Amino acid sequence: MTAAPERALDDPFGFDNTFAELPEAFYTRQAPVPVPKPELIRLNRPLAAHLGLDPDALVEPEAIEILAGNQVAQSSRPLAMVYAGHQFGVWVPRLGDGRAILLGERVDRDGRRRDVQLKGAGLTPYSRMADGRAVVGPVVREYLGSEAMAALGIPTTRALAALRTGQSVFRDSVKPGAILVRVAQSHVRVGTFEYFYSRGDRAALRTLADHVIARHYPHVADAENRYAALLEAVCERTAALIADWLLVGFIHGVMNTDNISLAGETIDYGPFGYLDTYHPATAYSSVDVYGRYAFNEQPRIGHWNLAQFAQTLLPLLADDEEAAIERARAALDAYAPAFEARYHAGLQRKIGLVAAQQGDTEFAFDLLQRMARGQADFTLTFRRLADVDFTEEGSMAPLRALFDDPAVIDEWLARWQERLAAEPRSAGERREAMRAVNPAYILRNHLAQRAVDAAERDGDFGVMEELLTVLASPFDDHPGMEHYARPPAPGEGVYRTFCGT
Ligand code: AMP
Ligand code: MG
Repeated sequence: MTAAPERALDDPFGFDNTFAELPEAFYTRQAPVPVPKPELIRLNRPLAAHLGLDPDALVEPEAIEILAGNQVAQSSRPLAMVYAGHQFGVWVPRLGDGRAILLGERVDRDGRRRDVQLKGAGLTPYSRMADGRAVVGPVVREYLGSEAMAALGIPTTRALAALRTGQSVFRDSVKPGAILVRVAQSHVRVGTFEYFYSRGDRAALRTLADHVIARHYPHVADAENRYAALLEAVCERTAALIADWLLVGFIHGVMNTDNISLAGETIDYGPFGYLDTYHPATAYSSVDVYGRYAFNEQPRIGHWNLAQFAQTLLPLLADDEEAAIERARAALDAYAPAFEARYHAGLQRKIGLVAAQQGDTEFAFDLLQRMARGQADFTLTFRRLADVDFTEEGSMAPLRALFDDPAVIDEWLARWQERLAAEPRSAGERREAMRAVNPAYILRNHLAQRAVDAAERDGDFGVMEELLTVLASPFDDHPGMEHYARPPAPGEGVYRTFCGT
């Protein structure tokens, strides 16, 4: 039995604890469980500074003890949150932070309140049959995944630090233990609402909804029906998030309702992945045998998840049940148009169009279909399209080379050239604009795997560091690092991703 952590006298964190001020029904007060030999793998210094923390103080032994869970900061009121959820469509009445501890909150330099949470911090009352721990490989994957997403400009949780614990953790084999220090706008999920709804606890639902409004949607606080306005706002943010995912080829992999943030951030990087070759039905997760969370299913699943959220709000939407259902339906009905507007506009930007014309969306879809037919790489097709210069024959070669049969793209290129004639921008302006929305670097699965293997097998975090450099500015060229922009070589592809909890 490991001793409970002591309170650290030195506290470089200065946490707020607004969630801990909510009634006890929302969490269990729980300190992290100490680990044998904490060692910092990496501190995200810019993020630390953005949170108003002193990066130099965070690498001191006292701070590392806190980040590893061996000490509790003076200002911290650590807790594990309770929630429920639909996992692969199956209702689970109680989940909760099984291996995560919320240390507290920081208000960042943009005035946004952010949670600081340890993932892999030991057993909690919600651990069920599991061990409360995380291992190096998945921690490296989540660190890379969330930082890459942030650099793409897509809402996401962040990684403040990763640590080794010096503990052996038992998975399919013995693995080195690790902790991810995760930062989120909050950790309230659709599953948090489901938990209280399923228990018929209307007062808790109201408290939770008010907390979420104050924290994430203050502009709806004075709406004529604030809970309906909350639902609308959550639908809108979620629609935008999923559209953004599709525009960069991201597959979340485990869109259970307990992994859907009320703040509209990408959260819980488990078996996620990015498309290499464009196949719309791609599903990587080893546990997603039916492709429920496949790439092109995500918009529909987003709606399904929001419908579960809407149901939990019914007791707050109106006294009369029929009226409540009507309000919920109206909000949900706005999801698909919001998704499409964002997705279609994004696709048009990706192909360099600004002067919208009838048929532009179909034209972009036609490109996607050709990519599927030609087995073309999703990311590189758009990136290389930016570099096409119709006055220079040779500029099309890199793009054409992505297609099994270049004739598949040639037809489309001819129509694109015609369509571009109606655009107000110069070729140079268009090229720059396209490069600013079509990344060269994404966290391809085989690259993530390389970083994981080096870290887990050899304790070598060099690949992770290199990847972080290119992924931090994914729209720039990184001379000398072009190999990180390439699709997997034959035999190098990774088509199964694992939660690897
Ligand atoms: P996930 O699918 O990763 O979102 O996890 C689903 C639930 O399982 C969450 O409530 C987690 O807290 C819990 N969980 C996952 N891995 C572990 C673990 N190693 N120990 C305890 N709980 C876990
Ligand atoms: Mg989860």
